[in-house]
Amino acid sequence: MFKAQKRFIAGAVCPKCSEMDKLVKYQNEAGRDVRECVACDYRDVMKSEEEMATAAELQTRVTPEGKAVRDEGEQAIKIFDAMPPSGTKH
Ligand SMILES: [Zn+2]
Repeated sequence: MFKAQKRFIAGAVCPKCSEMDKLVKYQNEAGRDVRECVACDYRDVMKSEEEMATAAELQTRVTPEGKAVRDEGEQAIKIFDAMPPSGTKH
């Protein structure tokens, strides 16, 4: 039977209740690192190193596309700004 071994993270501050030394860290059934606060109901499942690497890789790949989308958005805003105001005054 699975038994989580919870260990306090020294000096860690809970992002939810801001209590210090209330965060425990343990591995759940899936082998994920979980951070949990004993003072409130804060709980955060950490991503595995493999997932982190994949996410970082995806982020790098997505960046040029994301920039292109943002440029489109800026262009759209410019077009919108260039449009004469329809009846409403600024
Ligand atoms: Zn907390």
